[in-house]
Order: sequence, then C-alpha cells, then structure tokens
Amino acid sequence: MNVKDSDHIIAELSDEYEVTSNLKEADLILLNTCSVREKPVAKLFSEIGVFNKNKKENAKIGICGCTASHMGKEIIQKAPVVDFVLGARNVSRIKEAINTPKAVINDINYDETTYIFKEFRTNKFKDYVNITIGCDKKCSFCIVPKTRGKEISIPTDIIINQVQKLVNDGIKEVTLLGQNVNGYGKRFSVEHEKTNFTKLLQKVSKIEGLERIRFTSPHPLHADDEFIEEFANNPKICKHMHFPLQSGSTELLKKMRRGYSKEWFLDRIAKLREIPNVVISTDIIVGFPGETEEDFEHTLDVVKKAEFEQMFSFLYSPRPHTEAAEFTNVVDKEVAKERLYKLQALQKEILDKKSKAQIGKIMKVLIEEYKDGIVSGKSDNFYTVKAKGDESLLGDIVDIKITESHLNSLTGEI
Ligand code: SF4
Repeated sequence: MNVKDSDHIIAELSDEYEVTSNLKEADLILLNTCSVREKPVAKLFSEIGVFNKNKKENAKIGICGCTASHMGKEIIQKAPVVDFVLGARNVSRIKEAINTPKAVINDINYDETTYIFKEFRTNKFKDYVNITIGCDKKCSFCIVPKTRGKEISIPTDIIINQVQKLVNDGIKEVTLLGQNVNGYGKRFSVEHEKTNFTKLLQKVSKIEGLERIRFTSPHPLHADDEFIEEFANNPKICKHMHFPLQSGSTELLKKMRRGYSKEWFLDRIAKLREIPNVVISTDIIVGFPGETEEDFEHTLDVVKKAEFEQMFSFLYSPRPHTEAAEFTNVVDKEVAKERLYKLQALQKEILDKKSKAQIGKIMKVLIEEYKDGIVSGKSDNFYTVKAKGDESLLGDIVDIKITESHLNSLTGEI
C-alpha cells in the first residue's frame, strides 16, 4: 500500500520534480511512513535527524503516510525541521502540503480525489492498483482504520480502465490492493451496480493481454466458497493467497475482534489446499494481551496443520488509538519472545520441507531482473526463482524446472 502511495506522490509531483537518489541534490525529501508497529515510528525521528544533517540548504522535509495521519502536528512539535505532514489518505494534496508552510494535512474523511492520480511506475512488468481505501473493521490491535479512514470502494469502471491502460503500456501482472480486498463493493462515491470482489476478479480477468492477477490482503472471515472457487478456477489468478491468521486461539481471536474462529480458519485452509501448488502466507501476532500458553499452543497447532509457505510473525506492539492498547493483561516480554522463537523455529522446519518439495516442479516465472548471467522473478505461486539466462528474457513468462531449494529462493533451469 505504501509503495503504491509513494508512486502516486511521485506521479503527482512529476511536472515539477525528478526522483533522485542523491540526497545532496534533493530539493524535497519525503519519508513515507508505516505505523502498524511501534519500531518504524521510533526510527522516523532518527531518520529525520540524519536527513536534516546531510540535506542541501533549504531542502524541504515532508512526512507522509500512516504515522503522519495519526501523529499530525506532534511530528512538527517533536522535529521542528519538518516542513509539512501529509496523511496516508491525503496523497492527492501533496502540492498543497509543499506550498503551505508547516502544513498538517491528515484528514481521514471520505474524499474521492484519493484515487485519482497521474502515473509513475517503478517496475516495467507489474504494477499495483488500489481497489479499496481505508478499513471498516475494528481489529482491536490495529491502527489502520485511524490512519486510512473509512473503507471506500473504487468504482469498477475506473479500476478496469486503469488495468487496461497498464496492459497497453506493457504491464503483465497487476496486484489489486486493499486493506480488506474481499470487502470490495461498498461505499461507492457514485451510483454503482451491486458487486463484490469475486465479480471484480471476473471482470479484470477478461482484460486481454493481462496475464496475471494477484491481490492483497483478503480477510479470512469473508473467504466464502464463491471467492475461493474463483481463486482456484480462474487461470489468470496467481495461486498465492495471503491469509492473515493473527492467532490460532478462538478466544484470542475474539479479543482481537477478527470475527472468525480457529475452526473456520482451518476449514478455509483445507479448501485452499485442494488447489494444486497453492502457496499460502500469513501474519501472526505473538504475545497479544492475555495470550496464555494454551492460546499459543493453538497458534502452533494451526501453523502445523496449515503449513504456511511464508509467515510474517511479530511480537505484539501496542498502538495508540486502539482498543488493545488499553488492555492491562500484558504478556511478559521474555515469555512473548520465547514463544516467538518457538513459532519461528517451527516455521523454519515447515519451510525447509516445503522448499525441498519444489525440486523437480516446473514453474511459470515472470522474469523481472537480470544480473551477471542470472535472471530472476516470481513464480505464479510467489516463489522467488533464479536461473541462468539473458537480458532478452526480461518481461517474459518462462517455464523453469526447479533443481535446488534455498531458504528464500529456488534455483532452476529454463
Ligand atoms: S482488517 Fe483488521 S488488521 Fe486489517 S487493516 Fe482492517 S482493522 Fe487492520
């Protein structure tokens, strides 16, 4: 989401600015921030100091993104060298922010200009397309509804036109983006036919020349049969599902306000695992307030049964403006850390087994990079795959037979 927001910001400024990687040359320095966890927020202020020390005289510093949304003017109070603050929902107002001394624009109310942008692309072969903005869920640990506001759906014809344009420009793969993609279909700014995410997938997949569709992230609660069957049977949809578990304990899931149970999650996993070569990734929070040893055992149990190919696991981090930040039954840091190590050790075993099982398979890989005689890209099911090859393969989807597995990638022969 932030990568796409950065592209949009650059696009909006493209008539006045060029991107540079040379700090000494920059007239404008933008930091696009995350606030899902505590650590990046702390890092922000040290980064501001470093940029301020090394920047060209009179260069402006602007803080964008989710931390800008929820901290607002506090950022300028803490770091007076900052020239403006622009929230995640206000990307389209970047010029106004630059031109208003000490501007703080962090409105999270509905604003349809939040999805109309010029163009900037960092990858020639694939791109992201926003389909919803904001989130209406109330997961008790999550700050996102406070930083990105209420969920709005972008009208289907705007999405289709955008994808068509990308395909005309040579893009082969699009990732449909939303905080909760399978909630697509509510709160349009215009009169709109009744629709849902499955229908959107069907429409997008009809675009000729588009070869691959990905999306992130779906909510397990809304992963109904219709949606999973479309995912399984639509040949353009890549067979990688990011399916955020957060906890395997039904009790804890209730406290997290996730809306599903351990049984529901495992039932959906079983349905997904019927799809040949499907890859499932997940997010897990360890040490959520009140997490008992028994709750944690449930998480381990789901991980053993689901056998995720990829897992993003973190210690719980209390965030401001969230319900869980008020919970008093905090888990001891050392206990939480031990649980995290145990979970990650289990995941490593699963990953080793899963990666080795890929040897001998033939994967379709979109070649995105070339360096020193080696080409690399992502398989349909999201493995990073490398093989000997030349530059002429860039942008092609090629068959690669896997010969070796490593912790984070696979090697094969074209
Ligand atoms: S679904 Fe829950 S975790 Fe995801 S963005 Fe919305 S509130 Fe946050």
